[in-house]
Amino acid sequence: MYLGSRSVVGVTSCTAALHLCLLAWEIGEGDEVITTPMSFCATANSILHVGATPVFVDVEEETGNINSELIEKAITEKTKAIMPVHLYGQLCDMRKIHEIAEKHKLVVIEDAAHTIEAQRDGVRPGSLSDCVCFSFYATKNITSGEGGAIATNNTEKANLLSKLRLHGIDKSAIDRYTKLYQHWDMSVLGWKYNMDNIQASLLVGQLERIDKFWERRNYIWNLYEEKLRGIKGIEILKTVADSRHARHLFTIQITDKKRDSVLISLQEKGIGVAVNYRPIHLLEYYRSTFGFKEGNFPVAEKIGARTISLPLYPGLKDIEVDYIATSLHDILKS
Ligand SMILES: *Cc1c(COP(=O)(O)O)cnc(C)c1O
Repeated sequence: MYLGSRSVVGVTSCTAALHLCLLAWEIGEGDEVITTPMSFCATANSILHVGATPVFVDVEEETGNINSELIEKAITEKTKAIMPVHLYGQLCDMRKIHEIAEKHKLVVIEDAAHTIEAQRDGVRPGSLSDCVCFSFYATKNITSGEGGAIATNNTEKANLLSKLRLHGIDKSAIDRYTKLYQHWDMSVLGWKYNMDNIQASLLVGQLERIDKFWERRNYIWNLYEEKLRGIKGIEILKTVADSRHARHLFTIQITDKKRDSVLISLQEKGIGVAVNYRPIHLLEYYRSTFGFKEGNFPVAEKIGARTISLPLYPGLKDIEVDYIATSLHDILKS
């Protein structure tokens, strides 16, 4: 297995994976889960899906990852879990998060939708947590169009997760129909979240090429950094020293202009861009349900207001990176 974890359970998406992990570790109504506002809304939504409350903690300026120094302040008697997100492909400080979780007896569920390939201080996704969730959605580092997985070293929970992904029944179709028909039973209330065989077969080829894809994205990343170095008006988040970054999303922070005007200008030049992310707490549902407002998590808001994701995928050509860098130079000068 790529990450060396004991068990992997294939599911329909990373959202389903996060949801099932919360269920399997018995987190629900009345519980609080500490997470980051700088993520895709699926992270916090999964906490709402089990009736628990997401408690946001602001992020680090240099990486955009949850600020582990601020986590302890957010812990209450209701806190049951921490759900860190390895933003853009860079691992959070899992040693620190693990230490806090041990001290306060909290479950750690990693959202590694951006990050399969990373390493930091000898830690890889899942090495220091209860479970780690991956996405194989079309935009991710490896993909089956849609899909997800949970990796865990807890065999008992892996068995429970396998049941929970298929209604809570104890036999899959292959168990039921090979040889003589067998009765099946349902012991817990599960969901319809099983990864299908077609998705799984697509992933086999993707997994074989995972390091080759990473090499190419890493090369493009370094090319971007070289070509954009010294351009006035942008900043680039830091890669933590002596770590391997999964190189999922290459983002720039626009410092002197309105982000959205640069966003429009890049698209006018035919460059595909995205914003990852406007912080979750400022999305309409979270504002109106929980009363969040601007100023609650200033660092996440700063990144959310300034960030632009540039194209990053193995098929991107060097000459296209050149064109994007030159276009940025022109846009920021004007
Ligand atoms: C894409 C993504 C998800 C959701 O993944 P799905 O497989 O689409 O459910 C969750 N968290 C993060 C950080 C993501 O980027």
